[in-house]
Amino acid sequence: MGKRANAKLAMAYRQMRGGVMVVLMAAVSLSGTGCTVTTTETSTYTISHKWPDTPDRQLIAEVMSNGELAMNLRELSMPGGRVSGTENAFAAERYVADRCRAYGLTNVRLEPFTMTTWLDDRTVLTVLDDPPWEVEGALSLGNCLSTPAEGLTAPLIYLNQGQPEDFEAAGDAVAGRIVLVREGGGHRGSKMARAVEAGAAGMIQVSRLDDRSRVGQCHRTPRPEPGLAIPGKPGKQIIERLEAGEEMRVNVLIEAKAWEASPHNVVAEIPGSGPHADELILITAHLDGWHLGEAAMDNGSGSVTILEAARALARLVKAGYWQPGRTLRFVWFMGEEHGLHGSKAYVEAHPDELDRMIMVINLDMPGEPRSFTTFGHTKLPEFFAELRADLAGYEIAEKVGHSNGFWSDHAPFMQEGVPAMTISGELGPGVKFYHSSGDTYDSVDTRGTLDSSAVLAVLVRRLADLEERPVPRGDPSAFSSE
Ligand SMILES: [Zn+2]
Repeated sequence: MGKRANAKLAMAYRQMRGGVMVVLMAAVSLSGTGCTVTTTETSTYTISHKWPDTPDRQLIAEVMSNGELAMNLRELSMPGGRVSGTENAFAAERYVADRCRAYGLTNVRLEPFTMTTWLDDRTVLTVLDDPPWEVEGALSLGNCLSTPAEGLTAPLIYLNQGQPEDFEAAGDAVAGRIVLVREGGGHRGSKMARAVEAGAAGMIQVSRLDDRSRVGQCHRTPRPEPGLAIPGKPGKQIIERLEAGEEMRVNVLIEAKAWEASPHNVVAEIPGSGPHADELILITAHLDGWHLGEAAMDNGSGSVTILEAARALARLVKAGYWQPGRTLRFVWFMGEEHGLHGSKAYVEAHPDELDRMIMVINLDMPGEPRSFTTFGHTKLPEFFAELRADLAGYEIAEKVGHSNGFWSDHAPFMQEGVPAMTISGELGPGVKFYHSSGDTYDSVDTRGTLDSSAVLAVLVRRLADLEERPVPRGDPSAFSSE
């Protein structure tokens, strides 16, 4: 490199530094075509280069700059959670519908359905030592009916994590006893089903958390066999004594109510235009949540993630930057925790629309986006792997997962052959509190979750504008029931 070139370079560098100084002092306003900079000395100039300000960029900027996710989550994080059919849940339904209207979404409506809902008032677990003592923090599991007023007394039997082989090994010894199992190794409902089949009097699951019980659905429909959750610390003490061969008896008392409720799925749209306007992209999340804590992470976080994407997409449309080719329909389901009741009711109520649903994107505790998982059609991973490549700023795994699992509201659609996917991610240290009293606003990584809104908005926009649907509707018979 010659002297002249060096001098030129040095000048360019000085100019660049000067330029940076100016920009630091400046107020910047963005338009679609360029960047107008007003310096503090009131002189104005326009940066001459133009960049491709695509709707994707505008969407990400909108979510990151003006996102209301954290505020919406604060409003929906309610002490006592949002159990379907309770006052809290009805208030949450109205809140989401109001926000949708304020954000300019259309066809905002509450679609009622009926389900059996459940809530416990009082749970007492007494270990019948001499003298008897109560296990602090014991809680009833979902859909367990009240015991007789004097409670139910039975001996305990310890069955590790309650796997099929544990029940097999115990054989006839299970009948008439209350099965004690540790959390992990599958759904508590499956363990309870094994316990009922083996003639057990009930089941107690020991939480992984030392000082908190973790609840959740236990029986599919309300049943009399009591199911309880207890914190890890007393649980481990009881396990040690049982493993040492001690005979232990407990008394279980549950006061609970199950009733026929009419919750609502909340629906709102951004209508499409053009030849594919009657095709639908469903963006869904369950708004109901357990009564412990504030149901913030599960699934306040997913609910506000799709609400934020709705807000940003609607803003882009309103500003005239973009018009979706397909109709975007956002649905907040109730009844998920008690057995996917809201999404099942929705599929039943809209049979004529299933053919027109090109994708269901369901978010249940998304966190900071890390991977995509598709459900149903086997060509879906390939399709989303391509979309992922355009989201270079996010740490989304190259490999797109595929599952036929039933754990959330995508399942009733998947069973009908409707293509579905989810964004899953890193939930941070608060993840351990899900389904426990620790599920509060403070346990949610709102910053990471906001990233999921941006990624979701980009995915939705791409899907809305595809010339062809990515995969056809699948054969419903390919998905057997759980
Ligand atoms: Zn959930």
